[in-house]
Amino acid sequence: MRKKSDQRPGYFGPYGGRFVPETLMAPLDELARSYDKVSRQRKFQRRLKDLLTNYAGRPTPLYFAEKLSSALGGVRILLKREDLLHTGAHKINNAIGQALLAQSMGKERVIAETGAGQHGVATATAAALLGQTCTVYMGEVDMRRQHLNVERMRLLGAEVIQVDSGSRTLKDAINEALRDWVTNVRTTHYVLGSVLGPDPYPRMVRDFQKVIGQETRRQLRKQVGQDWPHLAVACVGGGSNSIGLFSAFLEESRTRLIGVEAGGFGQDLGEHAARFQGGRPGVLHGTKTMVLQDRHGQIATTHSISAGLDYPAIGPEHALLHEEGRVEYTAVSDVEAIEAFHLLAATEGILPALESAHAIAEAVKHARHLSPKKIVVINLSGRGDKDVESVLDFDADKNKSESKSRETGADRHPAETWKNVVWGGDR
Ligand SMILES: *Cc1c(COP(=O)(O)O)cnc(C)c1O
Repeated sequence: MRKKSDQRPGYFGPYGGRFVPETLMAPLDELARSYDKVSRQRKFQRRLKDLLTNYAGRPTPLYFAEKLSSALGGVRILLKREDLLHTGAHKINNAIGQALLAQSMGKERVIAETGAGQHGVATATAAALLGQTCTVYMGEVDMRRQHLNVERMRLLGAEVIQVDSGSRTLKDAINEALRDWVTNVRTTHYVLGSVLGPDPYPRMVRDFQKVIGQETRRQLRKQVGQDWPHLAVACVGGGSNSIGLFSAFLEESRTRLIGVEAGGFGQDLGEHAARFQGGRPGVLHGTKTMVLQDRHGQIATTHSISAGLDYPAIGPEHALLHEEGRVEYTAVSDVEAIEAFHLLAATEGILPALESAHAIAEAVKHARHLSPKKIVVINLSGRGDKDVESVLDFDADKNKSESKSRETGADRHPAETWKNVVWGGDR
């Protein structure tokens, strides 16, 4: 186990730090000081807890998915239902925390980057709630793909700025948000959406998401009589929902922890977003971590069916947890994630976010080898309403290519296939 004394402040072993222009050093110092101060204040913690409870909907249920469990041979699968939170994902935990922090720092404007739009919606929501001005940066490609979330942000009073540089996706949106922050730092707080970026963001966002693991621990004790699972699984984009769950069990050696990256559609650079399967140490957006890059150090393009996992770097704390071997990291492909999406819909009546579907797919692989009675917690980081169109498009493409290669039976919908698996044969 890591000893606190071994660590340089702002670092996780060799990873993390603050690789930013000189002009951002003072604002980051101020942010770190303010965060350290409020995180010890009872008044701040009370207000945060009140909003998470009465506004966002915490605690979220830890739901025993009985049908899914028996379909997979009897292990006890429990779903941490972050999908039931206001705005539909765990992102609101962090957005409310940082918006409150901005308020206590006397900053009346918040800015954010967003990929799929989930973090943008969460930040716009928190800003509306606290009466702050809100600007969200979003790549042009993402704005087209996630039109509904753009309109949600606008209805919440946020200004959405289209980013046309680079690949016109999340990484370019972060560049623009950082540029805005440098210019307007006196009045503005930058609400970063995951455990990424320069110190103090990785530890601050982690702390705001720790509530997921703390609740899970309490709920396990009450519901199954032991406060640790044999296996905990979560998807890893930047890494905030996973670290939120894992942090409660890092010292519990009986719990196996698995983080799931986006395996996309292939192993070559550009076909996936699995930083531990093809990434190297590098610096992106102010932090040193594992980064997908070509041999000249240029940041690689990435692919995932789930926008939330589609990013070339991973939170620096995960880079250390990987190196230490405390957390295992695997990758799940687009196809497997889609299958898991259908499986959860068919067995439990829940449409998971495609990000979360990666965690479900990984748990499915392990469930078959675990003895019944073993306890598995899956973090259901968000709901799948936003992904319905992606799933339909994917299934349509798949059916098309299958009917080309096969004579019959190609038009069966994947949900039907899963029903057969679950219920045992056609009926
Ligand atoms: C953004 C998002 C993720 C990925 O972000 P992390 O910081 O890795 O948690 C996962 N699931 C959902 C539903 C998201 O919206």
